[in-house]
Amino acid sequence: MISIAIDGPGGAGKSTLARRLAGELDFIYVDTGAMYRAIGLYALRAGVSTKDEEAVAALLPKIRLELRYVDGAQVILLNGEDVSSAIRAEEVSMAASNVGAHPPVRAFLLQTQRDMAKTSNVLMDGRDIGTAVLPDATLKIYLTAPAEVRAARRVAQLAEKGTVADFAGVLEDINRRDWQDMHRDIAPLRQAEDAVLVDTGDLNLEDSFLALRNLIRERTGV
Ligand code: C5P
Repeated sequence: MISIAIDGPGGAGKSTLARRLAGELDFIYVDTGAMYRAIGLYALRAGVSTKDEEAVAALLPKIRLELRYVDGAQVILLNGEDVSSAIRAEEVSMAASNVGAHPPVRAFLLQTQRDMAKTSNVLMDGRDIGTAVLPDATLKIYLTAPAEVRAARRVAQLAEKGTVADFAGVLEDINRRDWQDMHRDIAPLRQAEDAVLVDTGDLNLEDSFLALRNLIRERTGV
């Protein structure tokens, strides 16, 4: 089986690029951030503080997550409910980062993520795929861009949906979440030693796609 790990901070274009690459390669795309988001959403809805490890851990036995693929797109079901849109809400991003710092949450998701790579060729994106989930991945990519560029892209993305967002506020949210993801005790966000660094700061989406497509061809032959 071939596994490609793509890690990096939020807003670097990981999921957009990973989804398209997986479609082209006919690999299963696994968006692990969606799993952390679904747990964050469940905790928010339950009225539990997402920073409270014990309280969040107590919710885990009540959570059943399923990933389905509809026309190549990943759909995530939380106890049978399609929450693919709900998990994209702004407040769920920080909730996901908060619950992702708790070891029981990471243990809950680790085996599922590893099992997916045992049975299919996968392109998996997240924060700790190359360092913790798939340490023997065929190819590891660390995808990043300066925080200001990522914030500007996010503002533009929101504008396309008709939402006016304040650049400074978006930048602050991005920096806060990156800092928390990089400084947690368990599986912090960092570039694996054997990962290839790709900075998309000066690349548009199409060029980023081509850079990754070429890298994958060179390194894996697919
Ligand atoms: O990638 P996305 O922005 O959807 O991830 C949401 C949050 O989930 C991240 O900020 C991070 O804290 C957490 N996460 C993680 N490990 C992963 C994927 C996501 O801790 N493999």
